[in-house]
Amino acid sequence: MEHKLWGGEPYYGLGYDFDPQWYLTDAQKDLQKRLIEACHDVIRPEAIRCDETGEYPWKSVEALAELRLLGCIVPERWGGSGENHVGLAMIGETVTRYGCPSTGVIFMMHMAGLAALLFRAGGNEEILSLLRRLDSDVMIGSASFTDPETGGHFWYPKISAVEKVEGGWRVRKKASFTTSCGHARWVVTQTTSPGFDGDYSDISDFLVYADELKADPGRWDVMGMRATVSGPVEIDAVLPENRLIGAPGDGAASNDEAVNLVGMILYGALYNGVAMGALDLARRYTTRRRHAQYGQSVADYPTTQAAYGKSVIDTQVSRGYLYALSRELDRATGGGDWTIYEADPDARPRTPYICWGLVAKEMAARVAGEVADGMFNLYGGAAYSRRLEIERVLRDSKAGWIMGPTNEVTRGIVGRWALHGHEAVDWWNQRVNRGLLDNELDKLDAAGKRAIMERLGAELGGSDRGRDS
Ligand SMILES: Cc1cc2nc3c(=O)[nH]c(=O)nc-3n(C[C@H](O)[C@H](O)[C@H](O)COP(=O)(O)OP(=O)(O)OC[C@H]3O[C@@H](n4cnc5c(N)ncnc54)[C@H](O)[C@@H]3O)c2cc1C
Repeated sequence: MEHKLWGGEPYYGLGYDFDPQWYLTDAQKDLQKRLIEACHDVIRPEAIRCDETGEYPWKSVEALAELRLLGCIVPERWGGSGENHVGLAMIGETVTRYGCPSTGVIFMMHMAGLAALLFRAGGNEEILSLLRRLDSDVMIGSASFTDPETGGHFWYPKISAVEKVEGGWRVRKKASFTTSCGHARWVVTQTTSPGFDGDYSDISDFLVYADELKADPGRWDVMGMRATVSGPVEIDAVLPENRLIGAPGDGAASNDEAVNLVGMILYGALYNGVAMGALDLARRYTTRRRHAQYGQSVADYPTTQAAYGKSVIDTQVSRGYLYALSRELDRATGGGDWTIYEADPDARPRTPYICWGLVAKEMAARVAGEVADGMFNLYGGAAYSRRLEIERVLRDSKAGWIMGPTNEVTRGIVGRWALHGHEAVDWWNQRVNRGLLDNELDKLDAAGKRAIMERLGAELGGSDRGRDS
């Protein structure tokens, strides 16, 4: 078995014998090695520095671009390196494990926006020209979805509106969080569609460049994932025709087929990487810290071994699940090919796997929090030391759970889907709960029922009021 290196020395953490290398091609293993080197030389030192200062990790983003990772899933025909889902999972995990969780989230939000572009790139010259420049011009992007009123249900844009105007679209949107706020050179944003009539499943996506939005990075003053600079964004701009991604109303399909799966694969990969990073650090610390009274290291205590072993097992389950899902997505999409929608805009090979993606997100975010917490405890009081890094990894690990869909919301969706079928998920809260409604109405006395009838009558207009009363 090959030895893993870290700056030319043997790696202090878990070796390749604990990595599911069998999922990777030789080219992916080579990329993994070069990415570990970039983490050692640039991304990890920047993680430590930017966590302290709150600065955006530009050097790390440039290091990703140098490895051609900003366009890694772009098909070769469109100027990228045509990486598949397994490769994407490896990249996300490697960046957070050896390098920087914040840079991992920056990469994820870039990829979420990029997935929306790739879904409808065919035939849109504006998008195709951006795809060609992603790495050469370090065109880092983001996804500006989360609405201040609907929170972690990021697919539900309330404070947004689009109007058709001469030569394009007037787009208005408020987003409460956007990673790379003030630094992203473009974002994909989601709004209600032109001609919106109250149906929130009728949503559309737009490509917006940095000079067309107002970013407020100064409001990102947070406990973890500090270098993501995920502040609020406001858009009020007239955009040319070709900035609408796909057709009006294409947003829900884009979420199902593109943004969600890429997002969930990367959520899984990132937080598996966070858990592995915590295990690596704790291996280094517990094997070196010795207690004179026993002549033993902390790693020699059976309690340490059991705690460490459980964390390894939980993390491996999450990683194994994610790589298996990624490989299945590769099978379903001809190796992660995004050009299929050019020939058949209705193709939906990824959509059947949404629920599997949600499981990957929930599991990795949960495991990362638990593992980081457990590894932190193995340090004793030294855990508090910034120099030893585990406290930063613990703070960063918390973001997975609370990012949308939060783990509570994710569990609710998976549970509803499993118990009552996909329709019951009701993404936009449109289904009437008849049992609950009747039950509440039954609690009203005659005056209460009359008041409701009057209110409904007024809502429906004069003729209905007469009939109801
Ligand atoms: C580091 C970071 C980076 C981010 N980057 C981006 C980005 O680039 N783009 C973007 O669009 N967004 C981004 N977000 C936003 C993120 O994805 C979530 O949408 C957001 O964190 C949810 O936070 P909220 O405060 O709105 O929570 P809320 O949605 O208000 O949740 C509050 C609580 O209510 C619970 N809850 C909500 N609904 C239900 C329900 N139906 N059932 C049970 N419990 C429920 C939640 O689980 C949570 O415990 C980022 C967030 C973070 C922390």
